[in-house]
Amino acid sequence: MSTQRFNALKELLSRDIIKVEYPEKCTSEYFGSNIFEKKKMRKYLSKDVYKQLIASIETGSNLSRKIADQVATGMKTWALEKGATHYTHWFHPLTDSTAEKHDAFIDISLDGEVFENFDGSLLIQQEPDASSLPTGGIRNTFEARGYTAWDPSSPAFIVGKTLCIPTIFISYTGEALDYKTPLLRSLFVLDKHSTKACKFFDENVNKVTATVGLEQEYFLVDEALYNARPDLILTDRTLLGHASAKDQQMQDHYFGAIPQRVEIYMQEFEIEAYKLGIPVKTRHNEVAPNQFECSSIFEEANLAIDHSLLLMELIRRIARKHKFKTLFHEKPFKGINGSAKHTNWSMTTNTNVNLLKPGKTPKSNLQFITFLVNTIKAVHDNADLIRASIVSAGNEYRLGANEAPPSIVSVFLGTKLSNVLDGIENSVFTEEMNSNEKTEIKLDIDKIPEIFVDNTDRNRTSPVAFTGNRFEFRAVGSSENPASALIVLNTAVANQLEMFNKQVNDLIDNGIEKEKAILQVIREVIIASKKVRFEGNGYGQEWLDEAKKRGLTNISDVLQALEAYNFPKFIELFEKHKVLTKIEIKARHEVRVEKYKKQLQIESRVLGDIVLNHIVPTVIKYQNLLIENVKGMKTIFDEEEFKELTVSRIKSIREISISITEIEKKSEEMRIKRKNANALETLNQITRAYIENVKPYFEDIRYLVDKLEREVDNELWTLPKYRELLYRH
Ligand code: ADP
Ligand code: MG
Repeated sequence: MSTQRFNALKELLSRDIIKVEYPEKCTSEYFGSNIFEKKKMRKYLSKDVYKQLIASIETGSNLSRKIADQVATGMKTWALEKGATHYTHWFHPLTDSTAEKHDAFIDISLDGEVFENFDGSLLIQQEPDASSLPTGGIRNTFEARGYTAWDPSSPAFIVGKTLCIPTIFISYTGEALDYKTPLLRSLFVLDKHSTKACKFFDENVNKVTATVGLEQEYFLVDEALYNARPDLILTDRTLLGHASAKDQQMQDHYFGAIPQRVEIYMQEFEIEAYKLGIPVKTRHNEVAPNQFECSSIFEEANLAIDHSLLLMELIRRIARKHKFKTLFHEKPFKGINGSAKHTNWSMTTNTNVNLLKPGKTPKSNLQFITFLVNTIKAVHDNADLIRASIVSAGNEYRLGANEAPPSIVSVFLGTKLSNVLDGIENSVFTEEMNSNEKTEIKLDIDKIPEIFVDNTDRNRTSPVAFTGNRFEFRAVGSSENPASALIVLNTAVANQLEMFNKQVNDLIDNGIEKEKAILQVIREVIIASKKVRFEGNGYGQEWLDEAKKRGLTNISDVLQALEAYNFPKFIELFEKHKVLTKIEIKARHEVRVEKYKKQLQIESRVLGDIVLNHIVPTVIKYQNLLIENVKGMKTIFDEEEFKELTVSRIKSIREISISITEIEKKSEEMRIKRKNANALETLNQITRAYIENVKPYFEDIRYLVDKLEREVDNELWTLPKYRELLYRH
C-alpha cells in the first residue's frame, strides 16, 4: 500500500531522537543572553545614556533623538558582535501572531563603501508598507502607510541573525493597528487609578504594575502524519476523523511521563526561551493524548505578552527540527479536550505588594478586599465585553464543551473568601454612628483579620477563578493573543477603581472616617456585583438555569458575542480612558468578524475538497472490492447459498452507495450555500449566513464520513486516523 498515510506511518517509525546541544552553563548563567537588557545596556551605553533610557522605560518619558542615536549605536555594536546581519521592528498586528520585515544593517556611503548602519531614526520609527495586514477599514490601501514605533519597555532581542525591536503599530492618522498600543494604554490607566486607590492605605505607593503569568497548552502531531492531513495543514484542526477507541478516558496522560522525543524537543525550545529571557517554568502532559503545557513565571503584563507570542514562535519553529507540528488551535480534535491559554493576572505595587494577596493585618486585608471586590465588579459590569474579547472560531468549540467554562462569565472565589464577602455584606453601616458603633465598625474591620486562602480550593469550571493571589482567566484560547482580554480587563478594573475612589473620597469629604468610608463602599460594591459570583459546577445544567434566573448573559454565538464591541456603554468606557477610540473599536470588531467568517469559509472549502478527492474515491475503491467479491462468490455458490452468504456485503454495497450519494449531495449543497452567502451585502449578513446555512453541514458531512472510516478497509484509508495522530510520537 503506498497511500500517503502509510508512507507517513513508515516515516514516523524511522524517526530518530534529534540531538540537542545543551549549554554547559546552568540556566541563570545564560538566561537573557540574546536580549539587550540592563547588564548589556550598562556595557554598551554611556552612563548618562543608560540612565536616561532606564528613566524612559520606568516612567514612559520620551527619549531625545540624540539619546536614541546613542542607544541605537550601542544596540548595533552588541548585535553585530552576536553575529546579527539584519534588524526588524517586531509588532503585533490584529492577526493574533507577530509581524516583521527584515532590513540588512548594510548601507552604502557616498564614496561607495559598504558599512553597517543603524541609527536612532531606524530604532525609533519605521514605515513598513504592511498594507496587507488587517486594519478593519482604518486604512485604505491608497494611504497604506502604517508606522511602527519603538517600545523601550520591552527589550530588543536577537533571533537567528536578526535584531528584533518590539514596537507598536499605528496608522498614518494615529490609530492603533495592533494589540500592543491599547494594551500599553490600558496598563497606564490601571496604574493611574489603582495607585490612587492604594494611597488610601499607603502614601508610598506611586506605581502599580499588572502582572501576568500564562499557561500555554498545545498539541503535537508528527510532521509526516500532519502533512497527510490537508485539514490540519489548512485549518489547524481535524474536520473529519472517527474517535480513537482509546483516548483520554483512562486519564493516564495528564501529568504522565513525558515521551522522550517530546521532552527533548521541549528542552530545546526552553533553552532558546531562556536565551531570550522568557522565564518558562513548568512543562507537563495535559489531559488529552499528545497534548502538553508550558507555563512561564509571571512578569509585567506587556513583557509577558511579548514573551507569550515569542514563545509560541519558538515552540512552532523548533518543532520543525524535531519533525513535530504544533497545533495551537483550541479544539484540534473532536471529542477530547481542547487547549487554553490560562491567563493569570494580578497587580503589584512599587512597594512590592501583590494587591490580590490576602495580608496579615486588618489594614492590608482591607486593601486586598478593595482590589478583590473592585475586580469582581469590573467583571460583573463588563461581562459581555470580556466574552467578546476571547470568542473565536476555535474557542467556540471549547467553551461550554464540558472541559472549559461555558459562555457565561462568572467569578469563583472559594468558600472562605465568599464567607468573608458575605460577612461584610451582612454587617450594617449607618451614617450617624456614635462612638460605640464606631468601635463596632473597627471590630468589623478586625473581623477580617487573617485570611488564609486555601490554595487547593480550586474550581476548574469557572471562567474567572480567584486562585489564592491572582485571578485566573481560564476562557482565553490557546491560539489567541491574550492582550485582547487583558486590554478589556485592565480598562474595566481601572474604570471601576476610578468610581470606587470617587465614592470613598465623597464620603470622606462628608466627614466620614476613611476606613469606614472604604468599608461602606466595599459593601455597596459587593452587593452590586453579587450575581456574577458562582461557587458551583460551571459545567452543569443547573448553572445554565440559575444564570438565566440571575440575568447573566450566555452567548455562545460568536457573531452575537462580538456585537458587544458595538455597545455604546463599552465604546464610552474605552473612549473615556483613551484606550481605544470609536474608530479603533469598530476596526477590531470588523477584524474579528472577518476572521471568523474567513475561518468558516476556509473550513467549508477544505471539507468539500477532502470529501471529493479523498473520501469518495477511497470509499468507491472499497465498494468495488466488495462488488468484485460478490461477483466471485456468484461463480462458486448456488443461488440460495450465494444469497445467504452475501447478504451483509450486499447491504454494505447499498449503504455505501447511499452514503456516498448523501455526502456528495450535502457537499454540493454546502457549496451553493457558501456561494449564496458570499453574494450577500454586508459582512454581518455574510457571516450570519455562514453560521446558519453553511456551518451545520460540517457536522452532517462529518457524521457520514466518520461512519465510513470505521467500515472501509484500513489499508485504503488515506487520512491518518485519530488513533495515529494522537498516539504516535
Ligand atoms: P495551575 O496550573 O495550578 O494554575 P501553574 O503553576 O501552572 O498553576 O500556573 C500558575 C501561573 O500563575 C504561573 O504562570 C504563575 O507564574 C502565575 N502567577 C502566580 N502568581 C501570580 C501573580 N501574582 N500575578 C500573575 N500571575 C501569577
Ligand atoms: Mg492554571
